[in-house]
Amino acid sequence: MSSYVTLNPATGKIEQEFTELDDGGVSRVLSRSDAAFAEWRATPVSVRAQLLIRIADAYDARQEELAKLISTEMGKPMKEAVGEVQLAGAIYRWYGEHGPDLLEREVLDPQGSEESLVQTAPIGPLVGVMPWNYPYYQVARFVAPNLMVGNTIILKHAHICAASSEVMAEIVHTAGVPEGAYTNVFASNDQIADMIADPRVRGISLTGSERAGASVAETAGRHLKKAVLELGGSDPLIVLDDGDIEQTATIAARARLSNTGQACNSPKRMIVPNDKLDDFVATVTQAFESARVGDPTDPSTQVGPLSSIGARDTVVEQVERAIQQGATLHAGGDAVEGEGAFMRPAVLTGVTKDMDAYSEEIFGPVAVIYGVDSADEAVTLANDVGFGLSGSVWGSDIDRAQEIADQLEVGMAYINEHGTTLPGLPFGGVKRSGFGRELGRWGMGEFVNTRLRRTS
Ligand code: NAP
Repeated sequence: MSSYVTLNPATGKIEQEFTELDDGGVSRVLSRSDAAFAEWRATPVSVRAQLLIRIADAYDARQEELAKLISTEMGKPMKEAVGEVQLAGAIYRWYGEHGPDLLEREVLDPQGSEESLVQTAPIGPLVGVMPWNYPYYQVARFVAPNLMVGNTIILKHAHICAASSEVMAEIVHTAGVPEGAYTNVFASNDQIADMIADPRVRGISLTGSERAGASVAETAGRHLKKAVLELGGSDPLIVLDDGDIEQTATIAARARLSNTGQACNSPKRMIVPNDKLDDFVATVTQAFESARVGDPTDPSTQVGPLSSIGARDTVVEQVERAIQQGATLHAGGDAVEGEGAFMRPAVLTGVTKDMDAYSEEIFGPVAVIYGVDSADEAVTLANDVGFGLSGSVWGSDIDRAQEIADQLEVGMAYINEHGTTLPGLPFGGVKRSGFGRELGRWGMGEFVNTRLRRTS
């Protein structure tokens, strides 16, 4: 059986199976992408921008259909799925609208020459490896800026997202992007390694786990290719002593349950003053226990299934291990009986440095809540993990909250909000959360030749 299969995580039923790339496929894909690069880079910037706007229009026009597809494929609750489709469309639109200005050549102070200028040129075919948790959004982050720049794309999506990846390719081609400028592949890890090794491929972008990131970056390094890695996170959410406990706990609980807890930048660790800990835990526990777990296509569902039975079992096992190691469970944490990859959202306290739950990423609906005696202690705890994606600080004294946010070892720091993602803002992390940036002008600067042209 192909590993590219749509297996509905709410029912456990196979919906569709896809044919994997054959042995000769790698070379065919590379030849096509390389040949298309010559044509695509010569296509006027204004035309490439128009095509991106057309892609955005298609996302806007097909919201319900696209949302339903990922709801079936990876279990995203419908309301959130519609929001994701809107965000993906907004990213294509942003690059269509701003791309031409960002690609304008920059004239420098000539200093002894008639003309010195910097051009932003494409570099060639790129390989993108994407995860299942935000099927459209992750792809848009990589594809929109790079099509705008003039690079060509070979896209390998997660094996559970074969159906949505085919629809994404259809949207791009229907908008008018030439076939070879965007190729969707159902490739194995070995085939991806072969592509990265091939001289025609100029760069690789991966969003996913540390394990996959390390493997791909190793191959890229061996062949001297640039890599952008967007990896895992265990984001801290710090509440200061002047923060509104009930309101922040309610927002934090909602954020943690978003996408059934399967977001890289979800507030996985909540850090609260010790004298407010009980109130905070009670509010999050109440919110988790009352959240409606069920069929993701039902608009009233708040928490869907996890992406697969295996993914659900991993998270349930992480919660069980935390309890065995001495943590306290306040809600849920167990699998829901019956078909589908459902679990009840869990709240944990009493996690200490010697426990696995202190340092590992829990990729599901689990809040780990810590109590601290000072803001300094909160910052130390927040930074005491290998990840550095994003973090947030909540309080009414904004200057103080900003001062504390500046001490977080993260790529994105927020005050009184968590994880806001907009097309024009940079996205990415430090430490084991990866390197490079996506979105905004930064996302357009990763796979380019910043080229000097100087005339005496
Ligand atoms: P994953 O298992 O690493 O898969 C991600 C992608 O990498 C999939 O397409 C997968 O293909 C592919 N892959 C895995 N091993 C590979 C290898 N050796 N060579 C080439 N490709 C390989 O990650 P996941 O479980 O889907 O996603 C969850 C992780 O991604 C979490 O850690 C999460 O925090 C992180 N994430 C980070 C961001 C960010 O922006 N920083 C965003 C979303 C998710 P198959 O599906 O075919 O195995």
